[in-house]
Amino acid sequence: MSKDFSHMLKEKGLKNTPTRRAILDVFSADCKPVNAEYIHEKLKKTGINLVTIYRTLESFEHAGILKRLSLNKSSAYYELAANHHHHLICTDCGTIEGFKECDIDDVSRKALKDSKFQMVSGHSLELFGMCKKCSKFLV
Ligand SMILES: [Zn+2]
Ligand SMILES: [Zn+2]
Ligand SMILES: [Zn+2]
Repeated sequence: MSKDFSHMLKEKGLKNTPTRRAILDVFSADCKPVNAEYIHEKLKKTGINLVTIYRTLESFEHAGILKRLSLNKSSAYYELAANHHHHLICTDCGTIEGFKECDIDDVSRKALKDSKFQMVSGHSLELFGMCKKCSKFLV
C-alpha cells in the first residue's frame, strides 16, 4: 500500500514535518486503532516525546486526518479517518473487529424526522458485545 501522507498534510493545511510523518506512518489502512502510548513505543528510537504525540494526534483529529474512537477504554484510540468503517468491541478482552456495513441514510432519515435538526454531516458507530472466544467461557 502506498501512503502519501505528505500530500495529505498539505491538503489539510498542516506543516509537513518529519515528526508528523513518523506519527502518521504508525497508522495503517487496516482496522487497528492505536493510542498515544503505542505510538510512543513504536517511535522510541526517534526520541519523539509523549506530549508531542498527544498534541499531534489532537491536531490530526482536528484536521480530519484521524478519527477518535469511543472504545470505552481509559485512553483515546485513533484511526485514519479516510477509511470509513465501524467496530465490534469485546467488552471482556478488548478485541476489536472492523465492519463496513452501515445503513446510516435510513437511520439519519428516522432521526431527522420530527427533529430540530436539518441535516446529518457525520457519524460514528461502535458496537459492544462479547467475542466468540470470551462467550465460550460462559457456558
Ligand atoms: Zn477500525
Ligand atoms: Zn473477547
Ligand atoms: Zn458508517
